[in-house]
Amino acid sequence: MAGRVAFVGAGPGDAGLLTARALELIAGADVILYDRLIPAEALAGARAGAELRYVGKEGGGPFVPQEETEALMLERARDGALVVRLKGGDPFVFGRGGEEALALAAAGIAFEVVPGITAGIAAAGYAGIPVTHRGLASAVALITAHEDPRKPEQAVDWQALAAFPGTLVFYMGVRTLPMLTARLIEAGRPPGQPAAVVARGTLPDQQTVLGTLATIASDAASAGVAAPAITVIGDVAALHAELAWRAPGPLAGVTVVVTRARAQASELAARLRTLGARALETPAIRIAPTSDALPSLAGFDLICLTSANGVEQLFERLAARGEDARALAGARVAAIGPGTARALRERGVIADIVPERFVAEGLIEALAEVAVSRVLIARAAGARDVLPDALAARGAQVEVVSLYETLAEPIDPALAPELARADYLTFTSSSTVRFFLASAQPGADTRIASIGPVTSATLREHGLTPHVEAGRHDIDGLLDAIVADRREQTAGR
Ligand code: SAH
Repeated sequence: MAGRVAFVGAGPGDAGLLTARALELIAGADVILYDRLIPAEALAGARAGAELRYVGKEGGGPFVPQEETEALMLERARDGALVVRLKGGDPFVFGRGGEEALALAAAGIAFEVVPGITAGIAAAGYAGIPVTHRGLASAVALITAHEDPRKPEQAVDWQALAAFPGTLVFYMGVRTLPMLTARLIEAGRPPGQPAAVVARGTLPDQQTVLGTLATIASDAASAGVAAPAITVIGDVAALHAELAWRAPGPLAGVTVVVTRARAQASELAARLRTLGARALETPAIRIAPTSDALPSLAGFDLICLTSANGVEQLFERLAARGEDARALAGARVAAIGPGTARALRERGVIADIVPERFVAEGLIEALAEVAVSRVLIARAAGARDVLPDALAARGAQVEVVSLYETLAEPIDPALAPELARADYLTFTSSSTVRFFLASAQPGADTRIASIGPVTSATLREHGLTPHVEAGRHDIDGLLDAIVADRREQTAGR
């Protein structure tokens, strides 16, 4: 079977701006070749076995030559794969998508193009700048140029741009701003014309600086604006002052590292982003099913689940032998906390018992009044024995089944500089602590946030003191604690 390639625009950064077709293709792809400026969540919907490969060029990161990317794309498509070439913004706006499509056309390989929302329009819109506006601008130009004006590829006609009757939107690094504004003024564009720089547009930590053509380069520099950014030049830029509609979140400008397993990290990361934080996902662990068999659930009068992963594995084992939620009908069901209870509810089971404190000891207290004779505890391999021991001590017949194990996911050493600069490092279980520390180190000024006392104890065993401990031992509690800590930290400055 012949493969094919889809050139997919992932939008400018906000995952909500991925199109329905983009999500569909990401979910169905065998291979995804992606650039740096795609939404952090864009790959979350990829199939478990899909080949995900970074082929970016921009910025300080690793550089993958264009020929290599094209060769790989051709090779995988010839092998019969559905290849998604995922690019930031729109694939045919300054993304070299056209060149790559020509290579496919020449090779006779089928392709499709999924347009995306381009940064120049989206970042402006999120900053309250309409790129056209009745009476102010009836045309808009999207422009890029080589960063080094001495290079022969420099093809910008500054006279023509200065005379352009409408809005100019530049897709260029902030370092080129002094050059480009000087050239435009030289060529006759009015120095007093409004101009705005929008950095990290559509992301929760978007930053906008408003000035004039004459001042914007120094305004942006003193505001510490960093890539990626677009620059809007034209009367419409001034509308930012009236139309800016996005309030910065309580964690704006704060980088938070998420160490949980990839499958679970996305919820925490997404919640962090809605608070304005930049979430850096560096999973330290991954979840793998064990080969232990699940006993028949008949005859148990209590089934305890100690994590959402446990619930997922339990239902997978049940499904594998043709059973469903009804298999739990004869027993009471206890969940260690609200995340576990939610995972059960999603599968049609309302937990009978959820403790007030989301640790094994809390569950033991909550079960004090519950009469039990035969208990099944479905949990992770290597978990603490507090719960089975306590129930056995009360005379119950306890069976423990380890449905999954937590394995180390080594942290990419290339992320070390970013980790060192992070404001917060989050740990949501003892295993995230152990496995993170096996391959990485917290930054000297990074504040360590723990989900609860068990995780904090593990941190202390490793010589680290948590700066923040959640009062409520779940994701909401952890986020509340970080927001409160941040408020305290900045109030003191
Ligand atoms: N194909 C992309 C553009 C790729 S060129 C698109 O259609 O948007 C990369 C440039 O896009 C960056 O240098 C920057 O100028 C701009 N850019 C990308 N993402 C951005 C964002 N979130 N905010 C502001 N500018 C962005």
